[in-house]
Amino acid sequence: MTIDAIVIGSGIGGLVTATQLAAKGAKVLVLERYSIPGGSAGYFERQGYRFDVGASMIFGLGENGTTNLLTRALSAVNVSQEAIADPVQIHYHLPQGLDLKVDRVYEKFLQNLTAHFRHEERGIRRFYDECQKVFKCLNNIDLLSLEEPRYLLRVFFQHPLACLGLVKYLPQNAGDIARRYIKDPQLLKFIDMECYCWSVVPADMTPMINAGMVFSDRHYGGVNYPKGGVGQIAQKLVEGLEKAGGQIHYQARVTKILTEQGRAVGVQLANGKVYRGKRIVSNATRWDTFQQLLPAEQMPHNEKKWQQNYQKSPSFLSLHMGVKQSVLPEGTECHHILLEEWEKMMAVEGTIFVSIPTLLDPDLAPSGYHIIHAFTPHWIDDWQGLSQTEYEARKEKAAWRIIDRLEQIFPGLDAGLDYLEVGTPRTHRRFLGREDGTYGPIPRRKLRGLLKMPFNRTAIPGLYCVGDSTFPGQGLNAVAFSGFACAHRIAVDLGF
Ligand SMILES: Cc1cc2nc3c(=O)[nH]c(=O)nc-3n(C[C@H](O)[C@H](O)[C@H](O)COP(=O)(O)OP(=O)(O)OC[C@H]3O[C@@H](n4cnc5c(N)ncnc54)[C@H](O)[C@@H]3O)c2cc1C
Repeated sequence: MTIDAIVIGSGIGGLVTATQLAAKGAKVLVLERYSIPGGSAGYFERQGYRFDVGASMIFGLGENGTTNLLTRALSAVNVSQEAIADPVQIHYHLPQGLDLKVDRVYEKFLQNLTAHFRHEERGIRRFYDECQKVFKCLNNIDLLSLEEPRYLLRVFFQHPLACLGLVKYLPQNAGDIARRYIKDPQLLKFIDMECYCWSVVPADMTPMINAGMVFSDRHYGGVNYPKGGVGQIAQKLVEGLEKAGGQIHYQARVTKILTEQGRAVGVQLANGKVYRGKRIVSNATRWDTFQQLLPAEQMPHNEKKWQQNYQKSPSFLSLHMGVKQSVLPEGTECHHILLEEWEKMMAVEGTIFVSIPTLLDPDLAPSGYHIIHAFTPHWIDDWQGLSQTEYEARKEKAAWRIIDRLEQIFPGLDAGLDYLEVGTPRTHRRFLGREDGTYGPIPRRKLRGLLKMPFNRTAIPGLYCVGDSTFPGQGLNAVAFSGFACAHRIAVDLGF
């Protein structure tokens, strides 16, 4: 069989590319180094608990509009996923007593926030309404490859106003727009946190397109948890891929992208096996792709430039806990963010992110127990060069620092702990195949919105990138967008 596209990696970006191409009739092969699909959207099981390895606040599983890209990707290959609506996106526990829930209902969220900042009522509405404008533009058009001129032309003629709106926001960052309407320093810090908790940079460095999407879709399609755990999304996509004639091989670690006369023509696995394909797609990060799978010394000029603009964000320290039901006070929400001092928002172990998926899907834990996944930024450098004993001791100490702080919102957590497994940046690097375990690229300095984020084609003919180091960045729905765009561009290039 002649393979049309070889996809390196079965993260959501890689799987959406593969399923979209297979649905169009292309012969697709996905090569995954791990034993299950999903990458950062994967799972693991221990003692009756099914833990999400990373993502659990899921956008894109809604029913309406055009931005519900996970729903659309699944249905393109005739599979579907039951989604459980989360009534509150995040319960924030922030400094200066700023305790606030982001309700699924837009007006209720605005009321909750305004209750803390009465004097900024007008500014709050104007900022979040402007985010809604961005979203309405996006949610009107088919989201495909911005590298395909005929598509751009068609969309422009069908939705000229939406397109002009998006062009206006593309070079802007959320912080500049927030400061246009809002003056209160604490409220601006809150907006920083609203951005940081998914972009891992403050509002000034967060592209307005992404902010508009997140701050509005949570009130439109909403945050929905996939029944059976986040890992289900990747598993369903694989089911759809295979139904559509595509293939996936696990424990197939690509060590080299093969080139001939400067063109990508195939890949080589760690076991020496070679596959050739008309197009090669890398779902590995750009750092892994251009420094490990291709010779670092031949890195294309535009990739060097990209690295001057973007750096690796930190990884995380992750605590996967099984806890007694009694630990969770009545009315506890699924997602929490805890920060005690604003100055520490971006520091190592500053912000703690918490997910309790069993509040939405109790079947993920034994009866009477819940899962708490808590994670906080950490750099790999702090975990290198340690003996096994030192490594374990450092993990344990760090985990208890986090548990102690979480006692503020979950009193009795320590006593109610049934299971604890700690992951470090080394764990993320090892199991997710991401250099330094990074969460993804972040701007080195303030850039002009999303203008410098690359699309799917690369300087190497025949080689495409997909996933969170391509436009529009991190998050399952975002990498699904990049998958739709990548498959669209390849389908046009191959004449499908
Ligand atoms: C702790 C944490 C929490 C998060 N929370 C959320 C959240 O709540 N909501 C949200 O939307 N997003 C969240 N994210 C981000 C989101 O999970 C990622 O942005 C997204 O899953 C990245 O997808 P991707 O397609 O870029 O690839 P990845 O998930 O990185 O997958 C890449 C795949 O490629 C494979 N691979 C890599 N190299 C090779 C190779 N050489 N050969 C073969 N296979 C290879 C890997 O094994 C992996 O399976 C979170 C991430 C983390 C780490």
